[in-house]
Amino acid sequence: MTSMVFSECSTSTASRLLPRSLRKDAVVLVRRLSLPRRSCAWMAPLSRRTLAVGAAAPTSPPPSVAIEACAKVIDGKYVAKQIRDEISAEVSRMKEAIGVVPGLAVILVGDRKDSATYVRNKKKACESVGINSFEVHLPEDSEEEDVLKFISGFNDDPSVHGILVQLPLPSHMNEQGILNAVTLEKDVDGFHPLNIGRLAMRGREPLFVPCTPKGCIELLHRYGIGIKGKRAVVIGRSNIVGMPAALLLQREDATISIVHSRTQNPEEIVREADIIIAAVGQANMVRGTWIKPGAVIIDVGINPVEDSKSSRGYKLVGDVCYEEACKVASAITPVPGGVGPMTIAMLLSNTLTSAKRAHNFQ
Ligand code: NAP
Repeated sequence: MTSMVFSECSTSTASRLLPRSLRKDAVVLVRRLSLPRRSCAWMAPLSRRTLAVGAAAPTSPPPSVAIEACAKVIDGKYVAKQIRDEISAEVSRMKEAIGVVPGLAVILVGDRKDSATYVRNKKKACESVGINSFEVHLPEDSEEEDVLKFISGFNDDPSVHGILVQLPLPSHMNEQGILNAVTLEKDVDGFHPLNIGRLAMRGREPLFVPCTPKGCIELLHRYGIGIKGKRAVVIGRSNIVGMPAALLLQREDATISIVHSRTQNPEEIVREADIIIAAVGQANMVRGTWIKPGAVIIDVGINPVEDSKSSRGYKLVGDVCYEEACKVASAITPVPGGVGPMTIAMLLSNTLTSAKRAHNFQ
């Protein structure tokens, strides 16, 4: 767990602080806000990925989520369950047709509780869809060679279709060297430089796309949110989230800007966005005043903040001040329950894709 931060965001400032340039939209916004408080229309995901992006969402409501504001909730938990069901059906079909079960190997080094929890969750998710999971847990003081030995074994094992090294690794290990040792064909995390390089190049296809950014884009697709021609701002440029998210949006013909820790006037840049992907790791950094009315927000951040009402003493919030943003945006992912569940669903999806590719199974 990262260090605890206390960062509240007020619920009362968003509309008052809207900049002059947005005042026309603000009139509409204020009208919306002055409606009696009610649950907002729930934004239903399209039932299958194959539906065209931009198509109208079906009217049948997914499980109801009552919120007080007007942005529609993009429910990652619900979509992730849909995806797991689809994967489960494909795993059964593959097993029946050719007798192959996809397999995912996870290597954990050390005793970090958060890492152990992530690995446990991945194992459970594999079980839930019928994917075999293989786990190696090495002590904190292991040698790099020990990790490399297991990677090499899994690289050669035909029953393993995906290999994941849980990060962070202990500081005495060379993370780059270890990640590079995972064979490209089993790099279900999508972190291999060749996969990232292909993602960045026109006309090239990566074998795998990193799970969290892939999950962000999948949410936009499943909710029928058009990307082509839109202004998109990604906040954060990490190798695992921000940078690949920007590359993916660009591949989908969005016009992208990337905001990072050295960016001057980030609010001004973010305010131009039709689509915001926030992956910073700063609780409630993006305020309501940063958001163009009607923008769509995908909040990747997971930040613990003090919460005396919670038995744990803290709660998790995103990088976007939800209470303010949901009064300005047209759609938003909650934290928790937004991008988080999608990351594991995408890992399962990448593992299935890998197994299908290895066995030429359509
Ligand atoms: P990271 O490696 O620490 O990268 C953070 C990025 O944010 C960096 O590019 C940094 O800029 C930028 N940044 C930091 N402070 C900023 C500021 N004040 N203004 C603008 N940009 C700023 O983090 P990460 O691994 O990408 O993760 C980001 C967040 O997503 C974290 O909360 C993490 O827990 C969460 N996360 C969630 C999932 C999920 O499944 N939901 C998966 C992965 C991560 P510089 O490059 O200039 O330093």
